[in-house]
Amino acid sequence: MCSEADSAITAIVTNVQRFSLHDGGGIRTVAFLKGCPFRCPWCCNPENLSFLPEVSMNERLCIRCSPRPDGRLCERSPEECPTGAKTILGRERTVDDLVDEVGRDRVFFEESGGGVTLSGGEALAREAFATEFLARCKAAGMGTALETTLALPLTDAGALVEATDVFLVDFKIADRERSRALTGIDPDVRDANLRTILDLGAKVIGRMPIIPGYTDGRENVAACAARLIELGIRRVDVLPFHQLGEGKYDALGHAYACRGMRQLSEEDVVPIVDMLERGGISTVVSGE
Ligand code: SF4
Ligand code: SF4
Repeated sequence: MCSEADSAITAIVTNVQRFSLHDGGGIRTVAFLKGCPFRCPWCCNPENLSFLPEVSMNERLCIRCSPRPDGRLCERSPEECPTGAKTILGRERTVDDLVDEVGRDRVFFEESGGGVTLSGGEALAREAFATEFLARCKAAGMGTALETTLALPLTDAGALVEATDVFLVDFKIADRERSRALTGIDPDVRDANLRTILDLGAKVIGRMPIIPGYTDGRENVAACAARLIELGIRRVDVLPFHQLGEGKYDALGHAYACRGMRQLSEEDVVPIVDMLERGGISTVVSGE
């Protein structure tokens, strides 16, 4: 049962993306919470790494109407920018406010079997907000999904499972030390959480981003598959690497480790899909 205090919990939200066909089935409205404690070199959502609002600068829209002392940002505030080139990413929002916004799409959810997906960043870095938001959406009759690494300690796994119809959980780098060194993610923490939520009856779909040189090696794929099977997870969304994040790194002025890396097509991932399917895991190849 939601209390007034719970509804007033806030988080920084970057974006609410409507009419998504990925991320949980049917037509989805995806809300992105800002902030992630991890650092995957290929992250395609750099705007959701910092926990604070950030200035974004779209060079294509800039008409250079004000000096730019550091070469990147001018002296005008985003509110004063006449073209929308300079914007602030991230706004503090309450659970109430966000539930109201996603609730406007209920008719599409009902007709398509879709619902709301909470994504990030790492939404569980704001576990209280995430759980309350998903619980309120579910109570309002909307389907709920959570995209997560699941690699942070959980405060109330029972409440989270009750609020979440499906967990979309990352399987990236199987080797613990390599994962911790490259991304900060500890797969053992994820797997302990997975056992907890599976015992509580959670529905879980795995997500495997296929990133050249990072996650696409046969050994890594085989180890991820073995872990999925051991946990009893039999469905995986395979996400070939793309470069959609590159422009966002430029707009934020952040370095990007995967700049210029070749994009993967569906054909590139056929051998990986074959390997997973042969292991008894059903796959769907989609965009991230
Ligand atoms: S106000 Fe906007 S358009 Fe003008 S220089 Fe700044 S970013 Fe560019
Ligand atoms: S866990 Fe997700 S949001 Fe965080 S850095 Fe990795 S890909 Fe980006």
